[in-house]
Amino acid sequence: MLTLACLRCQTTMEMGFIVDHAHGNARQEQEWIEGDVVKSFWVGIEIKGREKRNVRSYRCPRCGYLESYADDSPA
Ligand SMILES: [Zn+2]
Repeated sequence: MLTLACLRCQTTMEMGFIVDHAHGNARQEQEWIEGDVVKSFWVGIEIKGREKRNVRSYRCPRCGYLESYADDSPA
């Protein structure tokens, strides 16, 4: 976990994550995928064989600015 100051107003940011909704409205965390979007009729977006990372997002409690990181922990 990082300690970050907001780039806009210098307030200390708080860690969180952006939730995505899968089939049946199941919650899952957002992932970073290498490369460009390749659409697929069957799976929505094809990501087979690509690098993936979990995304953590930091939020400024004062101005609402968001800053996201996808570190080296594989998803
Ligand atoms: Zn701010």
